Amino acid sequence: MRTIGLIGGMSWESSAEYYRLINQQVRDRLGPLRSAKLLMYSVDFGPVEQAQRDGRWDDAALILADAARRLEAGGAECVVLCTNTMHKVAEQIQAVISVPFLHIADPTAQAAMDMGAMTVGFLGTAFTMEQDFLKDRLKAKGLTVLIPDVTERQAVHRIIYDELCVGVISEASRQVYQQVIQALAARGAQAIILGCTEIGLLIKPEHSELPLLDTTALHAQAAVAFALGD
Ligand code: GLU
Repeated sequence: MRTIGLIGGMSWESSAEYYRLINQQVRDRLGPLRSAKLLMYSVDFGPVEQAQRDGRWDDAALILADAARRLEAGGAECVVLCTNTMHKVAEQIQAVISVPFLHIADPTAQAAMDMGAMTVGFLGTAFTMEQDFLKDRLKAKGLTVLIPDVTERQAVHRIIYDELCVGVISEASRQVYQQVIQALAARGAQAIILGCTEIGLLIKPEHSELPLLDTTALHAQAAVAFALGD
């Protein structure tokens, strides 16, 4: 089994999900007492989030590149960045390591294509919904990516940082997300990408009229596939 390296802490609420999902999958595949070989370097989200708000992406990249270097030095055989938003600086992280960087968009695009959903709705932070760094990688695989309108985007973004990243799960916010999903369905989305690693804590398949593509679960699965040499 190969050793997985996770860059976590953004937020730790979702990093805990990665840890749980990766270990569950290894157990399911290899046997009851088997678990993943992994390292997690969990950053302090505060300075990273401040850098996002200030548009100082290079400063955030330095923090994450340092984490990636430390993971590789510690024996990680791949690097998994446990947040969609910070994939904005994926290239700067990749540049400092010699082990593979498992990009979150790749298993997500693959899962959409596997289910035949070529038009997808995308929910995430304002950065990932409004900028191109992640959507372009999905579009490159032939997907059409729909994002919510501006008022909906503000609500989706606010709920991520004010609630989901601090462990608050609220029924009122779930209903907001459900309305946003409905609107995307009406515009032709065939599936919804949960393009923020905390959204799966709020929206489960039973809450959505469309099939969900949860980036946390798909990324965790890709990490396990790498570790087990699939
Ligand atoms: N975990 C989130 C994501 O997947 C948002 C937190 C962050 O800004 O990194 O985008």
